[in-house]
Amino acid sequence: MGEVATHNDNGEMVKRVVDMRSDTVTKPTEAMRAAMAIAEVDDDVLGYDPTALRLETEMARIMGKEAGLFVPSGTMGNLICVLVHCDVRGSEVILGDISHIHIYENGGISTLGGVHPRTVKNNIDGTMDLDLIEAAIRDPKGELYYPRTRLICIENSHANSGGRCLSVDYTDKVGELAKKHGLKLHIDGARIFNAATALGVPVDRLVQAADSVSVCLSKGLGAPVGTVIVGSKSFITKAKNLRKTLGGGMRQIGILCAAALVALQDNVRKLEDDHKNAKLLADGLNQITGLKVDNSSVETNIIYVRVCENSNTTAPKLSKSLEENGILVMLENTFRFRVVIHHQITTSDVQRALSCIQQAVTGASSEHAEK
Ligand SMILES: *Cc1c(COP(=O)(O)O)cnc(C)c1O
Repeated sequence: MGEVATHNDNGEMVKRVVDMRSDTVTKPTEAMRAAMAIAEVDDDVLGYDPTALRLETEMARIMGKEAGLFVPSGTMGNLICVLVHCDVRGSEVILGDISHIHIYENGGISTLGGVHPRTVKNNIDGTMDLDLIEAAIRDPKGELYYPRTRLICIENSHANSGGRCLSVDYTDKVGELAKKHGLKLHIDGARIFNAATALGVPVDRLVQAADSVSVCLSKGLGAPVGTVIVGSKSFITKAKNLRKTLGGGMRQIGILCAAALVALQDNVRKLEDDHKNAKLLADGLNQITGLKVDNSSVETNIIYVRVCENSNTTAPKLSKSLEENGILVMLENTFRFRVVIHHQITTSDVQRALSCIQQAVTGASSEHAEK
């Protein structure tokens, strides 16, 4: 079963590690390293790095927007987009209460941009109810004491909802709502290609209603570093200024962009396999007594696994025992862990992981029985 051994860089046999902590853990492929080695580069702060320009143009074309900008991380991408749309301090942004921007980005929009977050409850599928969004929009006539709403942010796929996807129809409706009230729409599209793949729609159609999109290169796409933000030409001009202000002006970034171009070419089409492997894993996990996955939530590559309270193990015990067998998962809390599939996890890796997990759970039960 499955390849258990593999070779390290020195050609020695080592145990193959199945790293499912996140889709950020992928290593650059040989094709990426080769492209990086021969990448044409120049000073991108001066605006001359040809490989960076090629990546930015290509991403803008794929997303159906006028222009793109390479930034060091998804966090900086979202920060720049929010701050450009909300260029007056004290602006308000409407966003999901468990969105990545609100939970995991150090509150940067407030500390650095003076932007006030107005959260709306994220439903279990990652959406926010349209009527709740509309109700959260401030009445501009109440300007004596209201901050001014300027932006709505949505996230697709929605990480904290287990990678669930927002549909074209929903996205268009949020876009219409934004337009009706003179607001902008930003999509945190860290995993927008996963969403487009799972929904079976062209990615440019999926983001058509957005004024800006932030697309991670180092999640499912498997590039080592970076994000590209896209939007109108005038938006990207302002974004470039802000990137410099934030210390994100970088010089010979063609090295990084070359890897990202390979990722776009080779890895987008692999996302479908990732999603199949995720479903396979979710189905297998559900057959293990003591574990529970909400199958309906597994639309893309993220799986949240519940360790039932009446089982004889806990998530920390399980993850430690798996680690000893070269299977890495992300611990969430006592009763929950997360696994994420990416292009360097094969179907046989999934099968090996399932049998290790089964053994770890069974082992814990028999240990318990002996006591
Ligand atoms: C990973 C991620 C980001 C950005 O993360 P960085 O680690 O800063 O690149 C933004 N939004 C979502 C939904 C993400 O999953």
